Amino acid sequence: MKSNKTTSTKYIFVTGGVASSLGKGIISASIGKLLQSRGYKVTIQKLDPYINIDPGTLNPYEHGECFVTQDGAETDLDLGHYERFLDIPLFQANSVTTGKVYQEVISKERRGDYLGKTVQVIPHITDEIKRRILLVGGRGKADVVITEIGGTVGDIESLPYIEVVRQLRYEMGTGNVAVVHLTLVPYLAAAGELKTKPTQHSVKMLLEEGVQPDALVLRTERKLSDDMRRKVALFCNVDKDSVVESIDVSTIYEVPLRMLDQKLDITLLNKLNLSAEQKPALDDWRKFVYSIQNPKRTVTIGLVGKYVELPDAYKSIIESFIHAGARNDCKVKVVSVHSATVTEENVKEKLNGFQGILVAPGFGERGFHGKVLAAQYARENNVPFMGICLGMQIAVVEFARNVLNLCDAHSTEMVHSSPHPVIDLMEKQKGITEKGGTMRLGAYPCKLEKGSKAYVAYGRVEISERHRHRYEFNNAYLAAFEKAGMKATGHNPETGLVEIVEIPAHKWFVGVQFHPEYSSTVLHPHPLFVDFVRASLG
Ligand code: GLN
Repeated sequence: MKSNKTTSTKYIFVTGGVASSLGKGIISASIGKLLQSRGYKVTIQKLDPYINIDPGTLNPYEHGECFVTQDGAETDLDLGHYERFLDIPLFQANSVTTGKVYQEVISKERRGDYLGKTVQVIPHITDEIKRRILLVGGRGKADVVITEIGGTVGDIESLPYIEVVRQLRYEMGTGNVAVVHLTLVPYLAAAGELKTKPTQHSVKMLLEEGVQPDALVLRTERKLSDDMRRKVALFCNVDKDSVVESIDVSTIYEVPLRMLDQKLDITLLNKLNLSAEQKPALDDWRKFVYSIQNPKRTVTIGLVGKYVELPDAYKSIIESFIHAGARNDCKVKVVSVHSATVTEENVKEKLNGFQGILVAPGFGERGFHGKVLAAQYARENNVPFMGICLGMQIAVVEFARNVLNLCDAHSTEMVHSSPHPVIDLMEKQKGITEKGGTMRLGAYPCKLEKGSKAYVAYGRVEISERHRHRYEFNNAYLAAFEKAGMKATGHNPETGLVEIVEIPAHKWFVGVQFHPEYSSTVLHPHPLFVDFVRASLG
């Protein structure tokens, strides 16, 4: 291995072993937070070993929420954690999939870039992965790049990624690359013991692929003894201080503080020959965690959607409520309601008791009617309401049917030939046939009407928010809506597309075509969520 040649950007890789869903994304984001709090410029990236170009074409049941960046990348939900923890925007380059890597290599092959060569996993695929890792460092723009490798060590799909870590460490030398491996230490109730063998095996597997981890983070339900840390250190060739426990905590936002207690940041800075002199500035973060753990009151919000069985499907919404709750000194209890189970007969019973109702984003016909009933219930009973994307479109359909008396008003996503298409396909979408990456994606400007609820929340006229949709409010109906009491209070300044609808006579009824949940962070809770929670508190 080459010696300590210093490159301007340092690289930390986070791999996982033993089981999936251990929270690699949270550990990666926590490491990022700690280094950032010590004054380092950090960026963070996810490498996903699946062949989809992006998760935009994956079912939320399969993969959880699809997160969207400002520049319109449809990404893994871990990018949401990164943005929420680090309070920085991420971009296309921060999300890499095997699909994107192969697509690039294959199109280069067709172009003739490799003329005469056999195109292979090593070096062509690995070089392309490497290029994408080095790209996010921006040639010295970031002090540290944290790269999380999706999947579990030993998976066939993740082999080229681990090979890249091996190569980069060799090429850059020790002192420039550090590897953190996250594993599970299961508790066997019958034996009354925590078991470290799976961790040992997982590290062996990583070693077989040529990578020695520098630090181990062990997920566990119970405290690890000193002896246990010593044993893991001995079997896995790491210092005892580099064996860190990640015990279950009440909120993911506590994880950076637990890592800090065990000096994981200092361990990594030492490995990277970076100074740990600057003390971590985490006062705001600690205050936030304190507010979550010591709420003064509780507010209950009904989240009406159709992917409610999998909490990850609405990850950013749930997290936005946590941020907004902390800002309002309250706990937001989010109760999921499956929209397909809501009927005329039971709507009162299902939604009674909620202080606020949120109708979620979504696609397709299933559960549509239940969502319309939820919007109607909120409107008629003056219950604070927020509709996001499809949720906003639902509020529009409901208003058309029940206030404008256009009883067969619909979205043309559901009924192609509706006599009253109050929600219709955007003009630019009309010729599109391919499904992947073709929605209206990413941030667009929006101009708010002074005096509206949205304006009060944001405190300014010009905003920019992220989108992911094909359908829009049909402006042919706007005058009728406004006359009857539903106003368009936010527009795209260039196209006139309606971005926000409100009912001014209602306590708080706001539907947004964009996704505020993608831009709420710990340090900057989203103003609409903050005001929605405030209104729900009454
Ligand atoms: N299905 C709707 C559209 O495409 C809403 C999308 C969403 O909620 N993200 O416009």
